[in-house]
Amino acid sequence: MAKHAFLSASASHRWLSCPPSAKLCAEQEDQVSPYAKEGTDAHSLCEYKVEKALGRNPEDPTENLDYYNNEMENCAESYCSFVMEQIEEAKSHCPDPQVLIEQRLDFSKWVEKGFETGDCVIIADDTLHIIDYKHGLGVLVQADNNPQMMCYALGALEMFDFIYDIKTVKMTIFQPRRENISTFSMSKEELLTWADEVLAPTAALAYEGKGEFKAGEHCQFCKVKATCRKRAEYNLELAKYDFAMPDTLEETEIAAILAKVDNLVSWASDVKEYALQQAISGTHYEGFKIVEGRSNRKYTDEDAVAFAVKDAGYDPYEKKLLGVTAMTTLLGKKKFEEILGSYITKPQGKPALVPETDKRPAMNTAADDFNEN
Ligand code: SF4
Repeated sequence: MAKHAFLSASASHRWLSCPPSAKLCAEQEDQVSPYAKEGTDAHSLCEYKVEKALGRNPEDPTENLDYYNNEMENCAESYCSFVMEQIEEAKSHCPDPQVLIEQRLDFSKWVEKGFETGDCVIIADDTLHIIDYKHGLGVLVQADNNPQMMCYALGALEMFDFIYDIKTVKMTIFQPRRENISTFSMSKEELLTWADEVLAPTAALAYEGKGEFKAGEHCQFCKVKATCRKRAEYNLELAKYDFAMPDTLEETEIAAILAKVDNLVSWASDVKEYALQQAISGTHYEGFKIVEGRSNRKYTDEDAVAFAVKDAGYDPYEKKLLGVTAMTTLLGKKKFEEILGSYITKPQGKPALVPETDKRPAMNTAADDFNEN
């Protein structure tokens, strides 16, 4: 994995929205989560698979991967197949595309000390294609105007534009655990205009620790998210909402609350978690104390329990069919489809109220049916 720069491409969505967050985050200690380590392992495996498929004789990293499992293997395989398909597709209009794996991409022309490692770069005549593997499950990542991908593309343009005269930049996020392949294309001119007019001036502010604080969804990846005053003010505005008249909320007021409630909930839980950790380490918050949470009974030695139950003449185990995800991991996607495709159904999901900008189509409700009749 790349050593992260002060203004990293991967955090660019955050510092482009809230420039002073970059310096604040840089002052905090780095804490590498198990998810990040798992992602690093998955990237190593992906790199190995593609290099091997390209006939480049790489070293197999598998035995050194702490988080290696069947699912990771399947994900890396499907990433490798996808990359190879893209290379074949490029070959259909360019006999000799350039393919770079784990390529250092330097976009410091626009972002002070900006560089990062791109998973895969394919250059075929006038088209530059950047592919980024995401192992994460938590957030669905889209390629549309994604500043991380655009920074990578700028780094690749810096390296290759003078050789290839690139006209189109294509960017793909491959996120197998969310069944997400998201691609976005733009012209080189559009990308460079964004780089000069948005990226470079905002990065300059961020580098100096200047600019306006701005809270929003991007706060979820900020290291000061629990203690940031701006985020607190932003969320507490809701609490100050003037509910005086009338006694019950109007629909427009509920809509105003709905627009902020997800951020409010995630901010509140970040503050709670932060305060708990601080309290455990000795901070006293007036009016609060630490208590033991609920816990359930558990076995001290599972083998001994099984033995004792069998000895008493009972069967201690239950046999359960694997769930769809675990079964897919066991069989691999292709075999799963072959063997079980006709046994899979997807029940209608529970209704959820989401902003109109959400990409999912609106659901037909009973009230809609009633209105139509
Ligand atoms: S929590 Fe949000 S508003 Fe505060 S510094 Fe971080 S990104 Fe900016």
